[in-house]
Amino acid sequence: MRDYVDGMADGCRSHDLPGVSLKLPFALDIGATHMRAVMSTDQSDIRFSKIETPSADRLGEAVRTLLAAVGADGGPRGGIGLSRAAGIDKDGTIIAWPSRSDWIATNLLEIIRRETGCTAIYDIDDGMAAALWEHAAGSFPHHCAVAVLSIGTGLGVGIVRAGVLQSTGDGAGTLGHAPIGISDRMCRCGQCGCLQATLADPSISGELFSHYLLRARNWLADRFGVDRIVVTGGSTRLRADDCLAVAGVSLSAVPDASAVLGAALFARRGTDARDADLTPSMLSGSRASSEFL
Ligand SMILES: [Zn+2]
Repeated sequence: MRDYVDGMADGCRSHDLPGVSLKLPFALDIGATHMRAVMSTDQSDIRFSKIETPSADRLGEAVRTLLAAVGADGGPRGGIGLSRAAGIDKDGTIIAWPSRSDWIATNLLEIIRRETGCTAIYDIDDGMAAALWEHAAGSFPHHCAVAVLSIGTGLGVGIVRAGVLQSTGDGAGTLGHAPIGISDRMCRCGQCGCLQATLADPSISGELFSHYLLRARNWLADRFGVDRIVVTGGSTRLRADDCLAVAGVSLSAVPDASAVLGAALFARRGTDARDADLTPSMLSGSRASSEFL
């Protein structure tokens, strides 16, 4: 699946994105603090569930819990989606995860395959997954260059330029670890000054948060031509006012679910070649936008 991810990052265009019915395959999002799952067998019944991320040795149990919670315990069919904060190698083993170093050396894909019975796992960085969803959901006009910042325990960043999802790295090599945060603040990756260590720190003041979000916006504009920012992730509601204080920043309608929804879209794209063209407006008014509010 890694080749698939790389191929997509190089050239995924909006017309290649998944269909609009929101019949979504089973997908998981594994973050440092929470694991989330989504599945829908028809567009009026989208199921979402969330549990605390356990220790790595209890991953199998957590996957089984989420499968049952979204009604997939009979075994999901076809390919499944996986949004992950961790960096993994070609065999699916975690090689980098600054926020959960206790998970290093866990074979993520092997355990998920075993628990779900699925061999086709479409795995994608969580920032990229969130960006895929926000684009599909119409959070920004198609022509824009947008960075989606997924702020939770860590910071995932995904960039979409003119409908093309950009590759933004893996593990500690992602843009969340760009050295544009508070310079003397130690990040979980071992370096000082990472953007993640500032924006994902709930203890910093709203004023400082806004200052560094503005700095990130300007840096992403200089480097990637980004002209707007969408903030999503588990911390979005806590930081809503501080985000909106920065020009060019908007908030996700489904901040707790955008990464897992993006992973489901990603898997759907991989499993259903007949997917219709996707226009943002077709998703923005859908049930999914209100399902997770
Ligand atoms: Zn870092």
